[in-house]
Amino acid sequence: MGIDVSGLYIHIPFCVKKCGYCDFNSYPYKERIADKYVNALKRERYIHLNDSHLRNSKIMTIFFGGGTPTILKVRQLTGILKLCRDSFNLSEDCEITIEANPGTITQNALVSLRKAGFNRLSLGIQSFSNRLLKEIGRVHNTDEIYHSVSWARKGGFRNISFDLIFGLPDQTMNDWKDTLLRAIDLKPMHISTYNLTVEKGTLFYCELKKGRLILPSEDLQVEMYESGINLLQDANFEHYEISSFARPEWRCRHNQIYWRNEEYLGIGAGASSYIDGYRYRNKDNPEDYIEDVTAGKLPVLEGERLKNETLIDKRRMMGEYIMLGLRMLDGIDLNRFEERFGIGMLDVYHLVIPRLIEERFLLLEDNSLKLTHHGIIFSDRVFQDFL
Ligand code: SF4
Repeated sequence: MGIDVSGLYIHIPFCVKKCGYCDFNSYPYKERIADKYVNALKRERYIHLNDSHLRNSKIMTIFFGGGTPTILKVRQLTGILKLCRDSFNLSEDCEITIEANPGTITQNALVSLRKAGFNRLSLGIQSFSNRLLKEIGRVHNTDEIYHSVSWARKGGFRNISFDLIFGLPDQTMNDWKDTLLRAIDLKPMHISTYNLTVEKGTLFYCELKKGRLILPSEDLQVEMYESGINLLQDANFEHYEISSFARPEWRCRHNQIYWRNEEYLGIGAGASSYIDGYRYRNKDNPEDYIEDVTAGKLPVLEGERLKNETLIDKRRMMGEYIMLGLRMLDGIDLNRFEERFGIGMLDVYHLVIPRLIEERFLLLEDNSLKLTHHGIIFSDRVFQDFL
């Protein structure tokens, strides 16, 4: 029996249309499929209730992610949340987040969502430049961003988070600073800043291959990241994870479950779970997902559950623990690592860690291993050494 499952993730894989850079598991919205999908989510939850470990776990956070969850009807979203409440053992102060995109929410919807118990709103703002929003294929403009924030506040959402992207095609440093300053001006509790990565299979990837997409240089992307850190810290945001900034006491509790390597259940197409030491992922395609769940089967990728029936081997688990844990700027507590794995981190990685400290990527402080500023910038390189 593993430790408690503390987080619940619900995936809504529909969007108005696909953005040029998107490699998330999302599909253009079709009402007929969405209706069936919502029923399938309810059924999948029912299948999991056979697991006493899940039934008895205390759920501290729920996260409705996508896709664009707010593309569903409000009654569908509140219905799913109600079933979660009825089925699982939720903590009294459960953090319940819903991702939303400006342009897909109304004031009435936000009032109803807040009343139903959603208490954290994560807005996919990405940029305050109408030119860039259009170029990357977003469906909203800056006016809709301002409306969404104002409606959310009127609806009673205090805990509001913004997602922003830098390193966009044709984006200048001035564009990025303007976006950051306008975001700060709206006083959200939390801001995530993501560096655009162009993934295979996206529209941007094809355009890049054809030479039709001009991205900022790597040096400029590093400068953008650093200017984000500086501006947000000056505005009293704590930089607590590589991409995440929060006002004191307003970190995202759900994401910290991932970074601390705690257990969670993912429901929906393409959702991942980590339960009892097993990691597995549901089928991506909503129609395949609906078919399996309707037949009473767990919609897990063919062979996936089987392949992972053996516990993830210890060395791999330690590597994952470190890669996730180092994302948090508090670092990894050496005693916690030893309690978890029965061996000291410095003993396992006696060659790697001293070298990374020597190269100024890592430091040991307060009995924790942490990324330095240099390590934060080149974190991907650091993580490679623990794979
Ligand atoms: S809104 Fe988000 S999930 Fe949907 S297509 Fe755009 S980037 Fe992808």
